[in-house]
Amino acid sequence: MPHEIPPRTGVAFTLGKGQRLVVIDPRGEQVADLLAYNRTDVGEVISASRTFDYANKIYLSTGDKIYSNRSNILLEIVEDEVGRHDFLLTPCSKDTFRIIYGDTDPHRGCFGNLAAALVPYGITQDMIPTAFNVFMNVPVDGETGAIRVEPPRSKAGDKTVFVAHADLVIGLTACSALQSNNGSFKPIHYSIE
Ligand SMILES: [Zn+2]
Repeated sequence: MPHEIPPRTGVAFTLGKGQRLVVIDPRGEQVADLLAYNRTDVGEVISASRTFDYANKIYLSTGDKIYSNRSNILLEIVEDEVGRHDFLLTPCSKDTFRIIYGDTDPHRGCFGNLAAALVPYGITQDMIPTAFNVFMNVPVDGETGAIRVEPPRSKAGDKTVFVAHADLVIGLTACSALQSNNGSFKPIHYSIE
């Protein structure tokens, strides 16, 4: 049975080199923010800009590799039933909800959930980069660079599978932002193989 991440929460766990992380959207249209750190030196973490640089594109899917801030491969996508993920936008946070949604008592969001879950691994808030946002759908206008957040393309039961290229600490959430998840908060499932 897969593990369940309840709506608007997050977890952290270790993933060994060669193990597969299966991220499942059990109900459809739900985003999961994913972080990966080198377990032996958590100063090494996934880097969107380096990954884009080496991939020559911003949408990643099967066969694409996620590089670190030290240009090592930390994760590779080996199966993908959705084919659209985001690696541009920061994890949702108190500030997201205050600035974009106008909330006066904002939820801590994926950022707060990740920060809390990663404490036992010696990872602090300032060590959290742009997450790989599994199932998040952010179309980009190629001329103007304008971006929109659209409903995820994931349907109930769809999954994306990553393989670890190093021993890792993983952070993973069921995203807390209404806009990213087509207006409702749902769980995320994951399993390690
Ligand atoms: Zn989020």
